[in-house]
Amino acid sequence: MSKRLMTLGMLCVILCCTQNVWGRQGDEKHEPDPKTQEPVKADVADAADETGVGQGGEITWSWSEGVENWPADKVAAIKSAMDEAVGFYNRYARLCKHVTVEYDATVPTASANIKGHIRFGGSISSRTAMHELSHTLGVGTTKAYHRLLHDGVWTGAYGVSLIKAFDGPDAVLHGDKKHIWPYGLNYARQDSPIARIRHVKMIEAINWDIRAGHLMDAKTGDAK
Ligand SMILES: [Zn+2]
Repeated sequence: MSKRLMTLGMLCVILCCTQNVWGRQGDEKHEPDPKTQEPVKADVADAADETGVGQGGEITWSWSEGVENWPADKVAAIKSAMDEAVGFYNRYARLCKHVTVEYDATVPTASANIKGHIRFGGSISSRTAMHELSHTLGVGTTKAYHRLLHDGVWTGAYGVSLIKAFDGPDAVLHGDKKHIWPYGLNYARQDSPIARIRHVKMIEAINWDIRAGHLMDAKTGDAK
């Protein structure tokens, strides 16, 4: 891991969080969070520490329009799933994103995009919510993601370092047009407490790789 890459990653994370704080100025309900002023640890060795407790986080979510028209049981299930998923992300990673959420009975499972919109249909669970959050953070939804996949193998420095930390020096992170594995939480059978923590750490590393590519949209902070 070069110092330059690490510095870039730290800069991007700080920029992202700083934008979030700036964006809140003037909103009395949301004072700047002192946690975002702390120095950011961008060392992937730290990122591999599964026992680490929360470093703070800035993923938030809200309903999109129409929530009052959706079935109450679906709304309750989605709320529970999103709260748990966002809680995991904010406990084990430092990532900045606001996500809007809707229920759409025509969606077979669930879907998400880089603008931060998640639609739940036939699959509502915290595992699904975590998987969809990964799409809002760039997995399968950014040009940089596709550039960093070479012949189905992730080449971004943070992701490469982390998969080796998790699974040994020969491990590689696989991916296709939409998904990464392992640790993509792509299927229910891949779910476990450790898998969830590693998923969050891996998505954080991938997000740093994407941002380190100088592809961040200066206006919105989103990865292109
Ligand atoms: Zn997916």
